This record gives sequence, structure tokens and C-alpha cells, in this order.
Amino acid sequence: MSMNNRNSSKYYADSITRVTDPFWKVTCGGCGHTYLSCIAISNCPTCGCPDGERFLGETPYDEVIAERVEPKMNFASEEARKIYYEKSE
Ligand SMILES: [Zn+2]
Repeated sequence: MSMNNRNSSKYYADSITRVTDPFWKVTCGGCGHTYLSCIAISNCPTCGCPDGERFLGETPYDEVIAERVEPKMNFASEEARKIYYEKSE
């Protein structure tokens, strides 16, 4: 029977992370704090640093980017904006 592929190809506001993907695990390059983010572009909630070591589940950032594209914030849809602000507060 048909799977609902339309749903599984929905992306978060960074335009590369699918809503079905695991969270990004980020180790901050500034303070070393580890946090979770639903998008590939994120600032450390502790010190605000935008750099860090990122893994999408078990997959390093570079591998994800090699398979997909560079992340790019997309505020075109209301849903994307909502997710971004929910996670950033
Ligand atoms: Zn930090």
C-alpha cells in the first residue's frame, strides 16, 4: 500500500532537516555545552555561540551536508517560523 511520502519530506526551517529526522546533537565550540536542536543552524542556548560540533543522530554534519545541501533558513512558511521560534525560546 502507499506510504505517505509527502509527509516524510517536510523540512524544518533550515530547509535540510526533515521533520522525521532525529534531533541535531550539538557540542558548543564556545563553552562546550551539549544541546539538542531540531535545525542545523543554531546558537548555543548558554553562550550564544553559533559554532559547534554537530551530529544528526549519529551522522556528522559534513556527511549530512554532502548528501543534502547547505542549510539555509527559510521563513517562507508560517510553520517554519513557528518551529524556529518555539525551539529558540
Ligand atoms: Zn556555548
